[in-house]
Amino acid sequence: MRISIIVPCYNEQAVLKLFYVEIVKVLEKITNNYELLFVDDGSQDSTLSIIKTLCINNSHIKYIAFSRNFGKEAAMYAGFCNVDADYVAVMDADMQDPPSLLPEMIQILESGKYDSVATRRKNREGEPPIRSWCARKFYQLINKISDADIVDGARDFRLMKREMVSAIVSMGEYNRFSKGIFGWIGYKTYWLSYKNVERAGGKTKWNFWKLFKYAIDGIINFSEVPLSIASWSGIGMTFIAFIMMLVIIIKRVCFGDPVAGWASTMCVILFIGAIQLFSIGIMGQYIAKSYNETKHRPHYIVSESNKETVKKIN
Ligand code: UDP
Ligand code: MG
Repeated sequence: MRISIIVPCYNEQAVLKLFYVEIVKVLEKITNNYELLFVDDGSQDSTLSIIKTLCINNSHIKYIAFSRNFGKEAAMYAGFCNVDADYVAVMDADMQDPPSLLPEMIQILESGKYDSVATRRKNREGEPPIRSWCARKFYQLINKISDADIVDGARDFRLMKREMVSAIVSMGEYNRFSKGIFGWIGYKTYWLSYKNVERAGGKTKWNFWKLFKYAIDGIINFSEVPLSIASWSGIGMTFIAFIMMLVIIIKRVCFGDPVAGWASTMCVILFIGAIQLFSIGIMGQYIAKSYNETKHRPHYIVSESNKETVKKIN
């Protein structure tokens, strides 16, 4: 059995060595046939040079370095496109995905009953309450309006069989939302819960605004429901307009036509204007995504690597 671990890294100099020591300790107990594939996502610190020194001492270590920062989704995709092992795992470099879970995950796959073992955190300790609340609401919403099964608290940390990785690679969309892609392709998945672990060092690359945009991306990628909001509000507004017309006509016939109603006219204009802009905005989001997809730009560009067979542009 061969196992590959994909590790997307962006400015992780503070934690990389610690991660390396821990993961190698765990892997060497399991098998000698492993590959640790670091994907350097255009780090500006010494992440890449640390990875290169690790390669000198251990031939199991491979790396792919991007020409700039393409984002974690692109880094994971590059990993998936460039591994050939029977079992493949994705792990963060910051120790939030505990390497000590790997043996258990492998055992579960070996039992033959599952195609992948995914992880989720039981709690959101160490996170601002408002962020936890928004995250919970996001998961409720996206599960209602899309057919991708997205689990609350799911992490990207998972171990998969080869077939599942091939399915992921075949989903070559440019706007990637991995949590949705994992759910969309299906397969039998075992969920392993663990207590949230804080970063071993360095800083998270996420802030509230980035998370919000990521959530919107997730919704747009896996649901067409927002598009129908425009049509439904159109139908609703037509109905209201019809009733208002009746009211105005009756008022005109019964009470004549004194010039009044500036306030109500303004309210109607503002309200309809807002709904129109909102609907156009939603459509714009979908059009922008389609535009990006049709350009067929590569997901990533590799500037250097120690893997002979690396797909440099994909
Ligand atoms: N990461 C990346 N490219 C980016 C941002 C993050 O490859 O543009 C990597 C990062 O180095 C880490 C993982 O993705 O290994 C998760 O990032 P982070 O810990 O910031 O996210 P969080 O755990 O807070 O969700
Ligand atoms: Mg993290």
